[in-house]
Amino acid sequence: MEQSEQEKLRRMNAKGEFVLRSQNEYAYTLSTPNQRVRERYPWETVYSGKFPKITKEFFRCRGSSVNPPHADYKDPTRPVNYLDCGGFQKHSLPMKGDKEFVYPVLIDLLNYIQEKTQAKVVITCGHRCPVHNAYADSSTYNQNSKHMIGAEVDFYVQGWESRPEEVIALVMQYYQDNATLYKDKKFHQFLRLETGKLNVSTPPWYNKEILIKLYKKNEGRDFDNRHPYPYISLQVRHDKEANEQVICSWERAFHCFRRY
Ligand SMILES: [Zn+2]
Repeated sequence: MEQSEQEKLRRMNAKGEFVLRSQNEYAYTLSTPNQRVRERYPWETVYSGKFPKITKEFFRCRGSSVNPPHADYKDPTRPVNYLDCGGFQKHSLPMKGDKEFVYPVLIDLLNYIQEKTQAKVVITCGHRCPVHNAYADSSTYNQNSKHMIGAEVDFYVQGWESRPEEVIALVMQYYQDNATLYKDKKFHQFLRLETGKLNVSTPPWYNKEILIKLYKKNEGRDFDNRHPYPYISLQVRHDKEANEQVICSWERAFHCFRRY
């Protein structure tokens, strides 16, 4: 009752009024917004060519506790048993400071190859912890493998399996294309390693930074490379950032990663 009386009073007192405005009268001027191209999200830049960009994650040790032990009978009186490591769930990549580390030139080179070939780079062996290194290839030649310190990678390119020489040419091309980063002539000149003990029949190529090895179909068939294709191995010889030679000692290999 009281409410309707109030409403009646409000109506009696209410006055209508026209709102007047000239045609071009604006209280506020609005500027036309500029269209902005948004920045890319991290997950949108993860491709090199058609395939996911290669990161250090691709280099994790391929050992596994499921792999059966095997024995080495080089000396029949003293057979040696090899057990595999627990794989990447049980240990990290090599460490640099408190971060996992693989020599960045290897990652850059593989992404470059993937972009140029528009084909997938298949890494068969990246980091190999000392246990998996001995398990995969127990030869004395392999004892100081740079796989143990994240300075070596084995790979082939899908669809280019029979043309590894062309992939090697691309590795060399990388230095020409990045001449601003590599000013020293020693990075552009590739020489052949003809002497010394080698496990390949093709003399490897090297410049100041890397060594390229070509393993033919019947060479280098270790546990990680049980496929029928020739493959390429890249080794880092020189650390450009620290300006020093990259050498793999047993001590460094053993202490450079974390066990979980
Ligand atoms: Zn391992």
